[in-house]
Amino acid sequence: MSTQANPTLTFKGIGASPGVALGHAYVLDRRRVRTPKLRLADEEVEPELMRMKTALELSDRQLAELKDQIAQHDAHDHGLILEAHRLMLHDPMLVDEVRKLIERDRINAEWAVRRVARKLKHMFDNIPDEYFRERRADVDYVADRLVRNLMGQVVDEELEVPPDAIVVAHDLSPADAAVMLRKVKVAGIVTDVGGQTSHTAIVARARETPAVVGAGRASEQINPGDLVALDGRRGLILVNPSEEQLARFRESMRRFQETEAAALRTWDLPAVTTDGVRVHLNGNIEFAEELPSVLAHGAEGIGLYRTEFLFLDRQTPPSEDEQYRAYRQVLEAMEGRPVTIRTLDLGGDKVPGTRKHEKEPNPAMGLRAIRYCLAHRELFRTQLRALLRASAHGNLRLMFPLISGLSELREARSELEACRSELGRHGVPMGRRFPVGIMVETPSAAWIADRLVAEADFFSVGTNDLIQYSLAIDRQNREVAYLYKPLHLSVLRTLQHVVNAAKGANIPVAMCGEMAGDPVYTLVLLALGFDELSMTAMQIPEVKRIIRAVSRDDARALLEGAMGLTTAEEIERFVHAEMERRFLEEAE
Ligand code: PEP
Ligand code: MG
Repeated sequence: MSTQANPTLTFKGIGASPGVALGHAYVLDRRRVRTPKLRLADEEVEPELMRMKTALELSDRQLAELKDQIAQHDAHDHGLILEAHRLMLHDPMLVDEVRKLIERDRINAEWAVRRVARKLKHMFDNIPDEYFRERRADVDYVADRLVRNLMGQVVDEELEVPPDAIVVAHDLSPADAAVMLRKVKVAGIVTDVGGQTSHTAIVARARETPAVVGAGRASEQINPGDLVALDGRRGLILVNPSEEQLARFRESMRRFQETEAAALRTWDLPAVTTDGVRVHLNGNIEFAEELPSVLAHGAEGIGLYRTEFLFLDRQTPPSEDEQYRAYRQVLEAMEGRPVTIRTLDLGGDKVPGTRKHEKEPNPAMGLRAIRYCLAHRELFRTQLRALLRASAHGNLRLMFPLISGLSELREARSELEACRSELGRHGVPMGRRFPVGIMVETPSAAWIADRLVAEADFFSVGTNDLIQYSLAIDRQNREVAYLYKPLHLSVLRTLQHVVNAAKGANIPVAMCGEMAGDPVYTLVLLALGFDELSMTAMQIPEVKRIIRAVSRDDARALLEGAMGLTTAEEIERFVHAEMERRFLEEAE
């Protein structure tokens, strides 16, 4: 707290774990220790090897202790990360190599550890084993620990985080995050690097700790003790906010806490209107680690599992077995509740590590989602086989993204059937036949929805894309973000057409785009007739509260009023005002 307070600063990062938090910054200094580099005389070699052995043993003991501490409190098994670190300490690739460098090259142990770590990281880049490849950061973590121990430095001191602090770090290893969140209730986490898919983000989500990652140079510019307000959904960080900003922030915090409290009260109540219309509320997930939060918030199933996240940030795709385990884990955890797994939506902004260099002129309209899968058949079949095998372990619903015509759906289904026959021939266990649906997220699919119903078992509307394509606005482009209007009359008419087509054929119709979880739109979606809404877990309670407070007729009256207007601004004003009148704060 010795440094002078900053003036007001704002940072925009990636919202990695939802929730709002206010607290004083605790800046973790996780910068690499400076490694001394020394040449050894012949007689110094033996003592250096002993020194290395002692550091290895000490590191092992420290990790074992940390793991025990975690195991006592942690239901998510994050202690496994530390076990992996311990295994590295015993791995000949590390231990023997370091010894060799000390003996052969006559260099000190610290230097040898760094050189071996660099080599290991380089190798892990190229081996197709997810466990090591994804954990290059863990090699650094283990090497840092060894070097600190060799130098007689205190190792786990930085984890003495004061309660209710906002932890700010350049980077935070998953182990650091898991240990820290076990020890103390931190208010939030900010890191300079990382993305939605980084393991630290996952640990934060699983722990329901608001987090913003990829926040640029936040850790350099935020001083210890600065007051930090953090919005983990929008990815916003306000440092030393003004009185007015603080008041507004406290208000959002109050509302957020109220919503969370309501979640605990209503998690097992059905989302049913006062006149008995039942809507199913499901959760959207990217990783299995989000399941505890999904269940705690009362999701009745998974409405969207974005499987492509298993493929990002890595050089080779996950194997069939690895995928099978991931899907099975989710299906089993949901214990018979429906789990809607979407096949790969790669391409566009979600480019796998291997293809980062391949730039398309217009990625949103390019080779993405089902098009990408149909162009990379082996990749697609591997996923389909994994899904078919996993179907034996729960209530699977499969859906294909970005379908734009019936031929694509037929093609995708025929790949699925080919995989089913292939597995059947080899006697591989599979579950019973499961529903196969499509995401309706292109205007093309929406306008032939009445034909697609014949060959799709359900629809799930992806408004994030449907709006981008309907209104011709790139959802990544900030310049046109002002035109992104879920209540545009053309969007409402499109949605109406899709729902009517589904109802006409008696197939379920869901929505899993962001529009589904925003309480401002709940009455509109209820009136349109959606059977299911799927959203981020934390949005469920608020949407449920609104549904339980109204009748379908009431909602229909609002929709009728809205669709009688013309401009998006008029409709927005009308719906916001009506929602405000009925539910006061929700419309903000
Ligand atoms: C959507 O487009 O609304 C959707 C849910 O898919 P994604 O956001 O993953 O593109
Ligand atoms: Mg989409």
